[in-house]
Amino acid sequence: MKDKKFDTKAVHFSTIRESAVASKVQPIYQTTAYSFKDLDDIEEYFRGNKPYLYSRVDNPNNDDLAAGVARLEEAPSGAATSSGLSAILCAVLAVAQNGDHIVACDDLYGGTYHLFASELKTFGIDVTFVSFADQQSIQEAIRPNTKILYSESITNPLLRVEDITGMVELAKKNNIVSMIDNTFATPYLIQPYVQGVNVVIHSATKYIAGHSDVTAGIIAGDQNIIAKAKEKMANLGCNLGPFDAWLAARGLKTLSVRMERQVKNAASLAQVLTEHQAVKKVYYPQSANEKGNGAIVTAELSEKADIEAFFQNLSWIKIVATLAGVETSVSYPLRTSHRSMPAELIKKLGITKHVVRISVGIEDIEDITYAFTNALDHSL
Ligand SMILES: *Cc1c(COP(=O)(O)O)cnc(C)c1O
Repeated sequence: MKDKKFDTKAVHFSTIRESAVASKVQPIYQTTAYSFKDLDDIEEYFRGNKPYLYSRVDNPNNDDLAAGVARLEEAPSGAATSSGLSAILCAVLAVAQNGDHIVACDDLYGGTYHLFASELKTFGIDVTFVSFADQQSIQEAIRPNTKILYSESITNPLLRVEDITGMVELAKKNNIVSMIDNTFATPYLIQPYVQGVNVVIHSATKYIAGHSDVTAGIIAGDQNIIAKAKEKMANLGCNLGPFDAWLAARGLKTLSVRMERQVKNAASLAQVLTEHQAVKKVYYPQSANEKGNGAIVTAELSEKADIEAFFQNLSWIKIVATLAGVETSVSYPLRTSHRSMPAELIKKLGITKHVVRISVGIEDIEDITYAFTNALDHSL
């Protein structure tokens, strides 16, 4: 065969194997597209007999991650997206369109609140926010054009545990699709699909990936809704890159061991905080699951505590606008996740200037409690 010239050789050097080689872990399919043998081979793809065309539409690493999470949620189908928010957007648009209505809990994650309150309006979708702690208020908010009941299994930052069974009953009675953001609980603690929810959503950026190095989202649930959500994902360009999918899939493998340690550490820290005089109130769920109550602890410091001094004395603990990594970190909801929420709602929810949200990591609990006790001591 005629030797190729330099520029051609620089591009064509890989030996692409047709059949799967016996690698121990899933390889990264870092490719934007898949090649076809001939025109009939292209038709085979569109007949549904052959996977993979173009990475915005589908790729093996996305499928791998989505299937992994869907399996843990015991859902028949899943999709991986570019972020938690794009997962929420694609899931919502799979069910609701121009003229439709959503009833959502009023203690939503700040980014979701903003998506629902501002962006969905531009799609002609109206959202009513009500307290999901009260079934009656959900029922009263439901209209003939309501398509979705939307909530979170454990809410942010005040950690209310959703009554999923009650929500599912209400959704079924009114013939509405139910969706739960399961980011804080993960399927390790709560499996909303098993409880009858139609669609489970994750910011895989958090516990699923677990190492604060990838932004990703997951939708898992009913086959027909996921198929529609995948169409939205491809059409809106909300796909996840192969390397990010691979990183999240690698993280997923250690979900249980991370959660086991983080939940245990969180329960211990919650107890220590309860006993500190600089703390007015600790928000830590008591009944999420027999395996534990999550790895987020939210604390409201007392009025006499200096919040600036607390943050200045956190030593090795990072101040961040995220959660769920293996490293313990702290966030300040009022100025980060809930910054764009209306002041009245923030006040009603109880997110004061003394509220701090702690994401408990896998470190030695003695070091974690020492760091927080020290910062609290300095706040007085
Ligand atoms: C972070 C988060 C989101 C948004 O996810 P991104 O990956 O940042 O887009 C949605 N819901 C909850 C509960 C979150 O914590």
